[in-house]
Amino acid sequence: MLYPARFGNDPLFPKATDFEVVYKDEKTGKGVISYRAFKRGEIIARMSGEVISDIRQHTLQISEDKHLYDVYFSGYFLHSCSPNISLDMDKMTVTALKDIKANTYLYMDYAETEDHLFKQFPCSCGSKNCRGWVAGKKDMHPAMLEPLAIAANQ
Ligand SMILES: [Zn+2]
Repeated sequence: MLYPARFGNDPLFPKATDFEVVYKDEKTGKGVISYRAFKRGEIIARMSGEVISDIRQHTLQISEDKHLYDVYFSGYFLHSCSPNISLDMDKMTVTALKDIKANTYLYMDYAETEDHLFKQFPCSCGSKNCRGWVAGKKDMHPAMLEPLAIAANQ
């Protein structure tokens, strides 16, 4: 298990043999790699962590005023505008959006869960539909209009 024993023993919790939080590169920092292949639509794992009321670097939004602080697994999912996973913050599950090969980084779309990000940043996901700027869904409108102007003003 990636989670400490005090989190309980859910069989869907991520196993240390299947996933690892690894240092990807200087630009990206850490990410979660999957050593296992998954089929599109398959539930990959269940998330857990501390539920807190403020936004931090590794939180994921559960509701208006609740955020999951998980420094063992989901807090390190990388962002892509063309993600390979989707998060259900009610069921706390992670689902494969496409077929995932073994030894692949897991990418979510931060705007799927977050109204606002702890820190916005320029996107380098390289996908065809890249928005160019990573922000929460409620921050998105101006960022999508003029991503470069906003980047310059940060
Ligand atoms: Zn992107």
